[in-house]
Amino acid sequence: MLFVTEKLSQDQILSAVQKTASFWKKEISALEELEACPVLSEEALFKRFSPPPQQSGLHHMPAVLNSGKYIFMPVAWSGSWRALENTLAERAPHATLGILPTLSQMDSLVMSVFHKKRILGTVTSPGNPALAFEIIKQLQVDLIIATSNTAVALTAYRGPAGMASVRAVHMLVGPEDFNTRTSHGRSVFKDFHILPGVSVAWQCSALAEEKGDRFHPSPDFLWEAVGEHILATSIDVRPAPLLRMRVCQGLLEQSSCPCGAEFIFSIHGK
Ligand SMILES: [Zn+2]
Repeated sequence: MLFVTEKLSQDQILSAVQKTASFWKKEISALEELEACPVLSEEALFKRFSPPPQQSGLHHMPAVLNSGKYIFMPVAWSGSWRALENTLAERAPHATLGILPTLSQMDSLVMSVFHKKRILGTVTSPGNPALAFEIIKQLQVDLIIATSNTAVALTAYRGPAGMASVRAVHMLVGPEDFNTRTSHGRSVFKDFHILPGVSVAWQCSALAEEKGDRFHPSPDFLWEAVGEHILATSIDVRPAPLLRMRVCQGLLEQSSCPCGAEFIFSIHGK
């Protein structure tokens, strides 16, 4: 078992796990006992989180799974989105447009990040590309936040020339969607999600320039390589404590990156 301890010591991790273990009604006295937490399938998630359980101090975020089913994940709403904040800090955009699925409820989170970072920006839905291009033109948008399907559809709608002012795309990628997409010369920061709004892994500028499928794993999760699979267990309350999920097939390695992050994983399959 391999733990990513980028920012936390083993003792700090164990104490975070013990604090949130009541979610699973489990006693966890050593990190090895985390292996007793089941690896969640979509079916298990759906069974566990729908209808919404009543728990104090948690909000419920609707999430759409690959199968198209909806679940309600308990989340502690912190208003932070580390990967997006990193991208905004690295690119320092003139103006930003989020084009986000209506049901994802990420728009309020994105607006709170704009407010916190004092970024000129707004959010629209993917249903009206003409409106999106009008906003891009009027605000001179140079950074877009979108799902990969939306980003590809947007370029197809008006061609690469229509996106000329856009220097970078912060692309939200789900597990169904690992493949590198063409960026038409733009930097594409990929922010990998299993559940909407909660980064599991993301790319810094250096990894984005590679245009490959290499990511920095989020330190909010414990990471382990089991055979050819990479598993992530949430130790933070976002999205919910102690969710143990199979992320992908790949390689997790310690590696130095210009941005200072110590770990990288490469995706080999789903
Ligand atoms: Zn990096």
